[in-house]
Amino acid sequence: MKSIYMTEDLEAVRDQTRTYVEREIVPHAAAWETEGVPREVLAAMGKLGFFGLRIPEEHGGIGLGTMASVVFAEELGRSTFGGFTITVLVHTDLASPYVVNFGRPEQQAFWLPKFASGEALTAIAITEPDAGSDVAAIRTTARREGEGFVLNGTKMFITNGSIADVVLVAAKTNPDVKGSRGVSIFLVERGTAGFTTGRKLDKMGWRASDTAELVLEDVWVSEDNLVGEENQGFYYIMSSFQNERLAIMGQALGESQRALELTVDYVKQRRAFGSALWEKQAIRQRLALRQTEIDAGRELTYRAAWLTDQGEDAVREVSEVKAFVGELANRVLYDCVQFHGGMGFIAETAVERLYRDVRIASIGGGATEVMLDEVAKRL
Ligand SMILES: Cc1cc2nc3c(=O)[nH]c(=O)nc-3n(C[C@H](O)[C@H](O)[C@H](O)COP(=O)(O)OP(=O)(O)OC[C@H]3O[C@@H](n4cnc5c(N)ncnc54)[C@H](O)[C@@H]3O)c2cc1C
Repeated sequence: MKSIYMTEDLEAVRDQTRTYVEREIVPHAAAWETEGVPREVLAAMGKLGFFGLRIPEEHGGIGLGTMASVVFAEELGRSTFGGFTITVLVHTDLASPYVVNFGRPEQQAFWLPKFASGEALTAIAITEPDAGSDVAAIRTTARREGEGFVLNGTKMFITNGSIADVVLVAAKTNPDVKGSRGVSIFLVERGTAGFTTGRKLDKMGWRASDTAELVLEDVWVSEDNLVGEENQGFYYIMSSFQNERLAIMGQALGESQRALELTVDYVKQRRAFGSALWEKQAIRQRLALRQTEIDAGRELTYRAAWLTDQGEDAVREVSEVKAFVGELANRVLYDCVQFHGGMGFIAETAVERLYRDVRIASIGGGATEVMLDEVAKRL
């Protein structure tokens, strides 16, 4: 489907990503569901420039906008391997943007070429055992000591947690002020004394993706590791959530679209009661309805990304996208499994995997209810 939000540059991102995914990801990714995504694959993607879409040219990227992230995420999503897709997106769109948008010039000069080339893989650690949706309730602390800070706390559900070379960690630098005021973001490198990976968490879906608990025990980092300014972290997080939500909903749209295509193909060849399943009006109309909803969700997402790229405050629009598309992906995959019949329940089908993978779309990065409250506040 054509969209007024698409440009030649974005079409090029789409074409190149689609070709790469079809040739280099789809044939191999089933094994990664148990083994994890090989580092060589991530390194190869970095070398080919896929990690530099949002990184400015002077730091080794090509400096495109939010729409490029959405298109890139859609195409990764079409691989039907959500665990692979989120491994990449956490690096390109959830974690590294903190340095792109808020990092100090020295941090950008040092880290961004490494993020673009894939030499350094990133993770973002905000969630804690007792603080998820309510970000202001985090308890990890960063106390000033000498020329730096000492971090203490535990982070939960961190994607790329045990494989990232550097983790962007949210911590309270001023526990005495209201929750949202005293938060800062730190670059914590793997190997820093006191910084360890706790449990690796087994999951319903996104099985190729690494999800871990992180433990910070008297971790000393230098002042140079403070991203941007002290106590501005909550603002950085809320701003970065806009891009994160659009990227992961791009993923959910790509997954939904591909699942729907696979299901249309399946019901056209599968026969029951004397004709193809496609001949049953109830089935083809339901699939047509879901396609209509996907098209609506895609345009809603592109509009929110486009507004963001115009420098507009698009919190309401992005929250609408997160609430609408996150739920939609679950409806689409429910129907795709249903119309695959017993095959939809068998592990070798893409829709079985995607059904599990999309369950998180309405929870992670802002649960539907939290997003709807953001919309409600603006009505
Ligand atoms: C696989 C996976 C990967 C993740 N990766 C990362 C990562 O890389 N970095 C990171 O920092 N975090 C990560 N997370 C955390 C994720 O963003 C949180 O799980 C999510 O924000 C929800 O927080 P919670 O799990 O604490 O749920 P809670 O905050 O406990 O909420 C539970 C449920 O209550 C409901 N709810 C919450 N608030 C409200 C409200 N105000 N009104 C009505 N209902 C409400 C929602 O339905 C919500 O799903 C990941 C999680 C998973 C499962």
